[in-house]
Amino acid sequence: MHVPFCDSKCRYCDFNSWELKDSTILVTVVDALIKEAYERANGLQPQTVFIGGGTPSLLPPDLLEKLLNGLHEATGFRESSLETTLEANPESFCYKTAQAALGGGVTRASIGVQSLRSEVLRAYDRAHTPNGARDSFLFARKAGFQRINLDLIYSFPGQSLLEWFEDLAEVISWKPEHLSCYELAFEPGTPLSQAKETGNFPDKNPDAALRLFDETRTLCESSGYSAYEVSNFAKAGEECIHNLAGWRSLDCVGIGAGAVSWQAGIRRKNPANPDDWLESVLTCNTTAQIERPNPKTRLFDCFLMGLRLCDEGVSVSRALRQTGLNPKEVWSKELQEFFSENLLIEVGDCIRTTRKGLRLLDSILARLLPEESRGRSRPEKV
Ligand code: SF4
Repeated sequence: MHVPFCDSKCRYCDFNSWELKDSTILVTVVDALIKEAYERANGLQPQTVFIGGGTPSLLPPDLLEKLLNGLHEATGFRESSLETTLEANPESFCYKTAQAALGGGVTRASIGVQSLRSEVLRAYDRAHTPNGARDSFLFARKAGFQRINLDLIYSFPGQSLLEWFEDLAEVISWKPEHLSCYELAFEPGTPLSQAKETGNFPDKNPDAALRLFDETRTLCESSGYSAYEVSNFAKAGEECIHNLAGWRSLDCVGIGAGAVSWQAGIRRKNPANPDDWLESVLTCNTTAQIERPNPKTRLFDCFLMGLRLCDEGVSVSRALRQTGLNPKEVWSKELQEFFSENLLIEVGDCIRTTRKGLRLLDSILARLLPEESRGRSRPEKV
């Protein structure tokens, strides 16, 4: 479920998020989210729920309660969901919001910390301070959250290993259950990319970024967080069940502006602009894009997502069930090359990366990318 508004737009962000100019629209957005949940997920009994954005914690506590009550009445998630996550940002995640979320059935908070350095947060145009991030973690714990993820970004240009480790060590000392550590990406069209292209923001050093990637894994693993995905680290049993489903290419129903659904091989994308999405829901006039990717593209997507799971990789039998194609037949030559180059290995039913292959994941995927898929939009990020 996507809440598409943020306090302000971060300079690196290419998510479907829009600056909230008038908070009265949130009432209409919540009504429309509930209406869409009734229409598209009635009685679904979902195994997981992820309320993301944007910044869902922008919803005032009473509206968040209304949304969660409506979602439960439509889907029954409070009885069925193994994990219900709310994304939150420090500038809007207060103790009352945390309480409303917990009371409404949310079981996991995911907080966007990104950095504990004022100059970095300012360079990103983040709407909070380092102390705001520290407070939001405390609010979540005090309210009673037992499962908390913290999002961080490393590889700020010029960032030394020591500076990054100071941030990372501090958040580890808070004892969250889960950490997501992303390398800063210059996504096309973002203000940060434009600033870089015009010489107004420095580029990253790729060798330094690779070292930070390696050392991040080492520090997280030595602190008791298993590196179960390229950018995600969890205490035992604290992996994000919802995102695991995404990396395994399982079906989901997406609700809200720009939300993507996958059901029985059909991809559906809601209108990205909140006004367009609101109009389509409130007038019952669907303008979603519907696409049925061909089996080879779907198989590639299974590898694109599944190879991110470091210890698990892609289940060959599941990929066959999902696409009708056996990757060992479709890519017999390529896979043999990857095995002999020690980039991929086969363990039981699964094909996964080696440590070497994980660092070269982009080039592995580039060699598997079907001709007809070049230039097509990527599957949504998880
Ligand atoms: S808070 Fe998150 S979704 Fe919103 S603009 Fe910043 S990075 Fe994007």
